[in-house]
Amino acid sequence: MLKVTSDTTTIRNVAVIGSGLAGLTSAIFLGRMGHHVRVFEKSRGPGGRMSSKRVSGGSADIGAQYFTARNPEFLAFLEQNAGTDAFDVWRARFGFQATDNSWLPFPEEKRYVGTPRMTAITRALSAGLEINAEVRIERLIARGSQWQLECTEGQDRGTFDQVVITAPPAQARDILLASGLDELAGQLIQPVEHILPCWAVAAHFAEPPTKQFDAMRPNSEQLYWVANNSSKPGRDDAGQWWVLHATPEWTQRSRGYRGRPCQPQTGGGVQCAHR
Ligand SMILES: Cc1cc2nc3c(=O)[nH]c(=O)nc-3n(C[C@H](O)[C@H](O)[C@H](O)COP(=O)(O)OP(=O)(O)OC[C@H]3O[C@@H](n4cnc5c(N)ncnc54)[C@H](O)[C@@H]3O)c2cc1C
Repeated sequence: MLKVTSDTTTIRNVAVIGSGLAGLTSAIFLGRMGHHVRVFEKSRGPGGRMSSKRVSGGSADIGAQYFTARNPEFLAFLEQNAGTDAFDVWRARFGFQATDNSWLPFPEEKRYVGTPRMTAITRALSAGLEINAEVRIERLIARGSQWQLECTEGQDRGTFDQVVITAPPAQARDILLASGLDELAGQLIQPVEHILPCWAVAAHFAEPPTKQFDAMRPNSEQLYWVANNSSKPGRDDAGQWWVLHATPEWTQRSRGYRGRPCQPQTGGGVQCAHR
């Protein structure tokens, strides 16, 4: 991700579809190389699956829970482009429940979160970019050597020399199919199948429901992940907000899940997770 090479000498107009971490990172690097970049995002703001929802008295991270930085260049990139105020180390007690139900600690590793919420990182990364929010790109139309972008309402969103699609696989496939790029869309069959659904719930407790761990991977058919969101740095909640992620299997079986198996669903309490 951080190795940048280019044989392009001319400045080009580039469209980036999606303003999750991948889209924002692409836009930053392309802009640094001198290209004109416009980012298109169907939601109200950047973040994608690094999502946080407002809850009374604060916010809860319902998408990505934390990240590690196994490549030190990634931390340097965040420090430089998001700033050190946008993220911090989550010094939590992490417990993993083995099949015999005994609890084991997570491997020692620095785990980072956005402060005061996960979206603080993507907000900060988007600061110097041209983000066109609430624009869902429907299809690309070939115009000579360029691509015209059309949004859901059929509106022309401009013509670009290059387009970077960073939407999740199923949504990227839909754009490619609608654009008549069936061969490219076909390359996404496997990635689409690897996306699994995940119900996410934020629950408030006036008193700590448990003091053993701040975050857990229980040995459970229903729950994949349980975490005290209020234990993350920069949160200033009264009581504790806990985030629960259901297992993909339970999510698919649950009555409220109306998506097809192994198809991503977003919105409401449902988010999709790569597992
Ligand atoms: C519940 C859950 C838990 C997770 N936990 C972790 C974790 O603990 N650690 C970790 O490292 N990762 C975790 N992940 C994964 C991590 O969140 C994702 O890998 C990462 O955020 C994906 O970033 P992205 O930019 O590739 O895609 P996304 O964040 O999905 O961004 C794609 C963007 O494209 C936009 N978009 C889609 N279609 C269109 C369109 N047609 N037009 C315009 N815009 C469009 C979307 O709105 C979205 O903003 C988790 C994910 C989920 C959902």
